Amino acid sequence: MDKKRDFLRKIVAEDLEAGKYSKVVTRFPPEPNGFPHIGHAKSISLNFGVAKEFNGVCNLRMDDTNPETEDPKYVEALKDAVKWLGFEWEGDVRYTSDYFDKLYEYAKQLIKMGKAYVDSLPEDKMREYRGTVTQPGKRSEYADRSIEENLELLERMKNGEFEDGTHVLRAKIDMASPNMKMRDPLLYRIKKASHYRTGDRWAIYPMYDFAHCLSDYIEGVTHSFCTLEFENNRELYDWIIDTLELKPPRPYQYEFARLNINYTVMSKRKLLELVNKGYVNGWDDPRLPTIAGLRRRGYTPESILNFCEQIGVAKANSVVDVAQLEFAIRDDLNKKVPRVMCVLNPLKVTIVNYEGSEEIEASYYPHDVPKEGSRKLPFSDTIYIDRADFEENPPKGYYRLTPTQPVRLKHAYIISCEEVVKDENGNIIEIKAKYYPNSKSGEDKSGIKVKSAIQWVEANSAKKIEARLYDRLYKTEMPQGIEDLNPDSLKVIKNALIEPAAIEEKADVRFQFEREGYFFADPVDYSDEAPVFNRIVPLKDSWAKKKKPAQPSAQKKPKKQEQSGGEMAELNEVQKTLFKGYLKQGLSKQIANIFARDEVLANYYKEACKAYDGAVTVANIVANEVARELKDKDLSQLKFAPKDIAKLAQMLDSGKISSKIAKEVFEIMSQSGEDPEQIVKERGLEQISNPEEIMPIIQEIIEKNPENAAKYKAGNSKLFGFFVGQVLKATQGKANPKLVNELLKDKLNGL
Ligand code: ATP
Ligand code: MG
Repeated sequence: MDKKRDFLRKIVAEDLEAGKYSKVVTRFPPEPNGFPHIGHAKSISLNFGVAKEFNGVCNLRMDDTNPETEDPKYVEALKDAVKWLGFEWEGDVRYTSDYFDKLYEYAKQLIKMGKAYVDSLPEDKMREYRGTVTQPGKRSEYADRSIEENLELLERMKNGEFEDGTHVLRAKIDMASPNMKMRDPLLYRIKKASHYRTGDRWAIYPMYDFAHCLSDYIEGVTHSFCTLEFENNRELYDWIIDTLELKPPRPYQYEFARLNINYTVMSKRKLLELVNKGYVNGWDDPRLPTIAGLRRRGYTPESILNFCEQIGVAKANSVVDVAQLEFAIRDDLNKKVPRVMCVLNPLKVTIVNYEGSEEIEASYYPHDVPKEGSRKLPFSDTIYIDRADFEENPPKGYYRLTPTQPVRLKHAYIISCEEVVKDENGNIIEIKAKYYPNSKSGEDKSGIKVKSAIQWVEANSAKKIEARLYDRLYKTEMPQGIEDLNPDSLKVIKNALIEPAAIEEKADVRFQFEREGYFFADPVDYSDEAPVFNRIVPLKDSWAKKKKPAQPSAQKKPKKQEQSGGEMAELNEVQKTLFKGYLKQGLSKQIANIFARDEVLANYYKEACKAYDGAVTVANIVANEVARELKDKDLSQLKFAPKDIAKLAQMLDSGKISSKIAKEVFEIMSQSGEDPEQIVKERGLEQISNPEEIMPIIQEIIEKNPENAAKYKAGNSKLFGFFVGQVLKATQGKANPKLVNELLKDKLNGL
């Protein structure tokens, strides 16, 4: 392999060299609860790609542990997608539900080891006991049940003797772990729902964290790739495998950045909403980023795989410009597909000096494409051109037909306008034109200069088609909801006219319609009698012109957004300008870099600054806390708004709360959606900045720790931190740390 390996492939290569595994086994583990999208294509391309490159195998596993949302039709869609992308899974399709018995045995084993228990706390209590990021949780009183009782309860849960939500099985790990996922996580919950494969056999279903690592192990998976939001789950993944003392070789989990694309949505939940509420026409609507949609629109598997390769695999989340996907399909089709002529908006042209008819031989490919093939174009005195290709009062720089400017009919003659025919309302309904007999393309001796060549079709032979022109589904880059849908995402043209060869010869199902774009015969609605073509993509990126004049043309190969190897790519020009702007606002380089790349966070920051202009503090909270929340949620799922972040920043800047408390407040507001000021007020979290309140605490702590105080005095300056920590702890993080530092220094040095 000559290309640079990304960080995951490096790990695989190293593991193989070190002899850790004899064969690479990966898996693609979708949940069959929706149609796969282009994000899944990234995962498919990674998992199947790695297996192929390292002579290993890749399993296709339906991760079907949520009976309510899963359906066999999604299983079929997932299989189709993998096959269509050109991959083959090892053996039969696998199902986590096939492992339910084994998983149950593992659960019993954990109970017998004293590492799992049945908890019967109500849900709200369970949440309360879990603690917060800054405060340890507390273990349930049910954790002391005997092994026998746990085994019996689990069995009865399984048999459906209890209602949903009454009991759960939890791992017994550590309620004070800084990693919330390790605070006695759930392993099984009761769900009295019928499963599409196991029916009513089970009344309990395993949680993702329990099922996933063990399914990987059962299948002999070596490298388990998942997206970044599972980073914190890795500790649990390892804990389960280690605790069960499973015999090696065992799988390891590695995380990579999930694919996000602007102007669209990618989560199955949101896609499901669009489909179910009828905003689009089914899962294979060509405007959707689903594999089925892209496929029906006319994207090729090659273009999607090339796209996945170009964006690479990295450890930093980013948003990929949809222009890059469009580039990939243009790049793939440019040299592959025949070019034909289609007039989307026909205007009749009568050539007054032409008699009879003829057929003009025309190549399907431009001369620089090494492909042979041509068709015969009928020609007569009546043709159609596109309305946009004639202007009675042309603006400056208009190169096509005008009353005074001739134009070439592509592959045929030069014509000039003799007369403009209008109806009673003044609409142009016909052009009477003159042609130049010695101007035929390829043998032109007319000496007439034209500035462009336009497409046309001959009136009698042309076929009527329906053209469906798709545009971006959303009008905003980071759509928040259906209000951002682009009302013009589908334009149907009923009476376009196409040259006959495109229908008769079926040279291909994909064409370039000269000057209009790439089109695909709609696989569902097309018939020879009523042909329907989908526009896959226009020839040029019309959005780039509209929106960002500074950007390089989309036909140039776009720079990789992320480089392989997990490193960050250089900023592009637009991002560089943003970056500089953020530095000017006083943000650190690191945060400026994050915002320059991540539009969602940057917008969030801007919004929050509108409510309070403490740029640096707001930026810190957004780039850290908010960013972390957004790892596994989308904007619409956040319980707080930018204005709450503004309030939080303001309290912090004014000294009302300490930074430690700010974190805690954030934690509470992100879980409950409460107002941050309210949280501080109700729980008495104001920072203590009164020396008279703090001094007695300092006094007490020094008295309690005479040895450390003496050591500090004797020169062990490291112990200063110990005292600061103790004071902060005694005030539950509410003491103003700066003041504590000053007071402590005075006090200790004065001893
Ligand atoms: P969604 O949030 O869209 O429902 P998911 O992560 O729940 O997606 P699964 O069906 O559970 O979807 O995922 C199957 C595999 O595809 C997982 O390994 C997951 O990490 C990966 N995957 C899903 N979405 C993306 C994405 N946008 N980019 C890269 N990989 C993805
Ligand atoms: Mg999911």
